[in-house]
Order: sequence, then structure tokens, then C-alpha cells
Amino acid sequence: MIDLHMHSRYSEGGEFTPSELVGECAKKGIRMMSVTDHNCAKANKEAAEAAVKMGLLFPVETVLCKDGIPSNGRDD
Ligand SMILES: [Zn+2]
Repeated sequence: MIDLHMHSRYSEGGEFTPSELVGECAKKGIRMMSVTDHNCAKANKEAAEAAVKMGLLFPVETVLCKDGIPSNGRDD
């Protein structure tokens, strides 16, 4: 099973830490997952490390947008 759209507590609608989120996926049989927090990549490092420990695949791509324009993540 694959789930490529979920939020950690760093984004609205998310209640779990990144590690907890990966643990919940492992328990439910999800083998590939992605965290899609809104305009925030804080979860990626912790989630990727937890995914490796738990044997899940965790592809990462983060695109930050400001006013609909892809941004480099800086505020300039
Ligand atoms: Zn979303």
C-alpha cells in the first residue's frame, strides 16, 4: 500500500510527529509514504530516518510556493 499525501504536526491537519506518522504507516501496512506538509519541510529528515529504520520507502520532493510561484525556500 502507498500513501503519498499526509501531514505531520508541522502542518495544519496533522497530529503526529514525523516518527509517529511513519510508525502509524508501518502498523497499517503502508510500504511507501510521503509527508506533504504545507510550505514546510521540517518533517522530512526525521521521517526519512524513521522510514529507513522501519523499512519503508520515503521519496521526498518539496516545492515551496509563494503566491502560486515556485520559490527557492528563502524569503527574498
Ligand atoms: Zn495536504
